[in-house]
Amino acid sequence: MEYNKNDEITLKIEDIGVDGEGIGKIDGYTFFVKDAVIGDMVQAKVMKAKKNYAYARLLQVLEPSDKRVEPVCPYHRQCGGCQIQSLDYQAQLAFKEAKVKNHFIRIGGFDKALIDKLMEPVVGMEHPWHYRNKAQFPVGKNKEGKLITGFYAGRTHDIIANTDCALGVTENKEILETILQVMNDTHVTSYDEETGKGLVRHILIRKGFTSGEIMVCFVINGTKLPHEEVFVESLKKIPGMTSIYTNSNMQKTNVILGKESRVLWGEPVIHDVIHRRSLEEINSGKDSMAKDREGITFAISPLSFYQVNPVQTEKLYSLALEYAGLTGTETVWDLYCGIGTISLFMAQRAKKVYGVEIVPEAIEDAKRNAKNNGITNASFFVGKAEEVLPDFYKNASDTDMLHPDVICVDPPRKGCDEACLQTMVQMQPKKIVYVSCDSATLARDARYLCEHGYELVKIRPVDQFGHTTHVETVCLLSKLHEAKHHVM
Ligand code: SAH
Repeated sequence: MEYNKNDEITLKIEDIGVDGEGIGKIDGYTFFVKDAVIGDMVQAKVMKAKKNYAYARLLQVLEPSDKRVEPVCPYHRQCGGCQIQSLDYQAQLAFKEAKVKNHFIRIGGFDKALIDKLMEPVVGMEHPWHYRNKAQFPVGKNKEGKLITGFYAGRTHDIIANTDCALGVTENKEILETILQVMNDTHVTSYDEETGKGLVRHILIRKGFTSGEIMVCFVINGTKLPHEEVFVESLKKIPGMTSIYTNSNMQKTNVILGKESRVLWGEPVIHDVIHRRSLEEINSGKDSMAKDREGITFAISPLSFYQVNPVQTEKLYSLALEYAGLTGTETVWDLYCGIGTISLFMAQRAKKVYGVEIVPEAIEDAKRNAKNNGITNASFFVGKAEEVLPDFYKNASDTDMLHPDVICVDPPRKGCDEACLQTMVQMQPKKIVYVSCDSATLARDARYLCEHGYELVKIRPVDQFGHTTHVETVCLLSKLHEAKHHVM
């Protein structure tokens, strides 16, 4: 049977694709249907047909799946930020676990039975809403010329008015509405991407979950926000508000923030603490505050990189720490260390930690964070992991540094460079803890490590981004005792 554009079809959705889309078949021909949920019987319209498969648009759910739930956000289909909001949360977690497993089997080439044995249950959230501590809202006008703020409709730059994103903090709504009101009253304009004219481009809001401190930053196409005292006067009344900034971005670009920030009112930074959580707490499925109140305090400015889901970050890093099995005598390398989040967490339990990160400002933050927390056993280096590590390996003479007990990596989506993996293997750490935001490249790199003297010990997905298809994974590899590997 051949299918063509605009054909209407009725089919049962039997699987979920990696991007959260529903997958169904008619006589062996495959359809990908965005917004359809596994188990649904749907009516869909073919948008693009190929020889063996087609993309179709959901027209109607004829019989809903028992895994389909009423989405909390009325805009979720238009927005595209939450690809799987209509899927029951437990089913979302099962989907993520299966995705990680599949990557290890298909890309990593590992045996299914082994992966089934090593996979630990996915760590979900008890309340997977309002978990993001940072949001950036574009400001513009609707068709009637009214000022609005919200989000870009999937893959476009059309703004859909919504001040109440279900993943962001509840304070966002009041803050955004206050700003729109003052902009209207004072005739401060919104930026127009087409013409490059107008002033306010984005509103960045960040909150320190443990401190309750809130930062608002106006990203403006200029150097000064007119009537800034009126904005400050209205915003500072909002409970938790501690910091108000402008950031200048006068470039015609999709990059949201510019380089220069200026404090309009309040403190230059907000604070957050990442606490350790015991395995027991993590496994309890409860999101209540960590019992171990010892933690690392981070100072966050508008440009700082900081994990967006603090509750899950505590679980993720606590697991990484657990996997590292530190006792206080170990030397650790933390590659792709960002602002030193994992490094400082580990430094509290290790003899010495070395962090490597490509962004110089992040390393400045890492050093400052170490100092503010009284941590003296962590050193940080700016550079590419795949250059810094081989350099040290060739030139350093400190044996602890050359042969650390643990190497931890947390690379961006593309994973580790082979030169980095090669040096890691040469350094022969007893343990490698791999934190990953893309299980496909994690599986690829795990395969390399397992071909070079390491074995997979544990894998655990952590749901940092509920209602989206993204999943974080933490994985432990350990050095094989037998000398059956060949060091390259
Ligand atoms: N572990 C940190 C950051 C993880 S994000 C945290 O959890 O906060 C990945 C980091 O890798 C980013 O900070 C990015 O700037 C950095 N990075 C990207 N490519 C790199 C490379 N080749 N070498 C070192 N760091 C790199």
